[in-house]
Amino acid sequence: MDSRPSKRLLVSACLAGVNCTFRGKNNLNDKIKRLVDSGAAIALCPEVFAHLGVPRENIELSGGDGNDILGGKAKAISVNGRDVTNPLIAGAYKVLRVAKRYDIREAVLKLNSPTCGVGRIYDGTFSNTLKNGDGVLAALLKRNGIKVLTENEA
Ligand code: SF4
Repeated sequence: MDSRPSKRLLVSACLAGVNCTFRGKNNLNDKIKRLVDSGAAIALCPEVFAHLGVPRENIELSGGDGNDILGGKAKAISVNGRDVTNPLIAGAYKVLRVAKRYDIREAVLKLNSPTCGVGRIYDGTFSNTLKNGDGVLAALLKRNGIKVLTENEA
């Protein structure tokens, strides 16, 4: 018998109130939290799955977006200059494995994050400037046929 719970939505854990941001805070969205509390959604943080810790150094994508990272053409760099490209990719793949296990078809992700961001991410200069592009997880989920929405579209 298949004992997997019937979750069909993946959400960024910080939106559900988990204190997993790089500052050790959350980005609580009451609607998202209700979905998780009701059992309809599963909340995961790809940067925690990357073993980067909480709190952790701020990260931005340099030289491209999440698609470029997955293609080996860009880097994820911490504010102190540490290359965290490989851990970020590994964390995103771990989330993808969970999504596949639960047959998840849709994700609601946090805006602007280098990992979860959809459509817009910070530009790699740590100057609070956005550029077009997806974060690493958003890009990976899209490549695997999972619909990705921002918290504003949920
Ligand atoms: S990686 Fe995603 S889930 Fe984790 S804190 Fe950043 S935006 Fe939230």
